[in-house]
Amino acid sequence: MARSCTVCTHPERAAIDKALVSGEAVTAVASRYLSVHQMALYRHKDEHLPARLVKAQDAAEAANADTLLAQVRTLQARALGILDTAEGTGQLMAALGAIREARGCLELLGKLMGELDERPVVNVTLSAEWHQVRGVLLATLQPYPDARAAVAGALATLESRNA
Ligand SMILES: [Zn+2]
Repeated sequence: MARSCTVCTHPERAAIDKALVSGEAVTAVASRYLSVHQMALYRHKDEHLPARLVKAQDAAEAANADTLLAQVRTLQARALGILDTAEGTGQLMAALGAIREARGCLELLGKLMGELDERPVVNVTLSAEWHQVRGVLLATLQPYPDARAAVAGALATLESRNA
């Protein structure tokens, strides 16, 4: 951003940029901001505005993605907390529900991270974490063969449906 640009240093720069981005004619913008020369507006539009837009978009997208990731991680942590409680008190249906929620969060995390980073490692993580949760649940149910069989069956149905 060259300091000599009277648009970049203009106190109304944000409004001017917005007008230019929305496709308003440079002549129209110039007639509204009398202190800005029309030629300066053309130069700013061609040379400075694109870089500013890219920067703003990157920042907004990064912030948005971070927020989404943080929210999904919070949800996932809560679902796993509920799973612990449900397991601890022998509430199997509630445990199943919590597993389903945790799994949904994992999938969402995988998708979000996949959009941020296209490397296929995401699916490995997703599957590994899911198998960990699944393993913990089935191990916990070891003393209750009937319940364990029922849960295993329900998980198999769930997995094949989501496969
Ligand atoms: Zn400029």
